[in-house]
Amino acid sequence: MINFCESCHLAFEEERCPNCGNKRVREVQADDFCFLCEQRAMEAAMAEAALRNENIPVASIPRGSGVMSAFAVPLENAALYVPFGMFERAEEIMCNVIGTDTEAFREDLIAHADRLFVRSERIERKMKRKLKLAEEEDLLEFCKDLIANAKKISDRGQGWSAGSGNCLLVQGANIDLMIDSDSYEIIYVDRY
Ligand SMILES: [Zn+2]
Repeated sequence: MINFCESCHLAFEEERCPNCGNKRVREVQADDFCFLCEQRAMEAAMAEAALRNENIPVASIPRGSGVMSAFAVPLENAALYVPFGMFERAEEIMCNVIGTDTEAFREDLIAHADRLFVRSERIERKMKRKLKLAEEEDLLEFCKDLIANAKKISDRGQGWSAGSGNCLLVQGANIDLMIDSDSYEIIYVDRY
């Protein structure tokens, strides 16, 4: 049985809501609006249009991130909700929408590849260990290759770095890179 939390608008298999811990859950109905994703306002509008295009009803709720840009315009996010009965189809459509971003992000990162940097030598050594690179291998060259061949590059919003940009997640076959979209700092690497 799939349960539903009315306060979080989440569907899940657990007995309690994994988000708020609520125990008063009920069986989900096909027309329950469920949380799909949270995106920056512009991406959310794109996703909403793509979903409506496929006749999927969408509820979009603005969520202010509280972060002000240099022009004092709030960088707002929006959370999207779709009926549970159409959730899987909606997820597929979202993948395609996010997928089309990959090439735009790749182009931008390659155009600014000479600005990629790591904060310190200590962090660079740590990242090379994590990626299992040899001493003489060049971390930045490795990252450039990964960007060129990544299967997916997506915008994960603010909050990962101290920088002013958003966090771009670059996903290779078994490696993740996080890059600040503004400073081009390589924030985080992972190999799994
Ligand atoms: Zn909940």
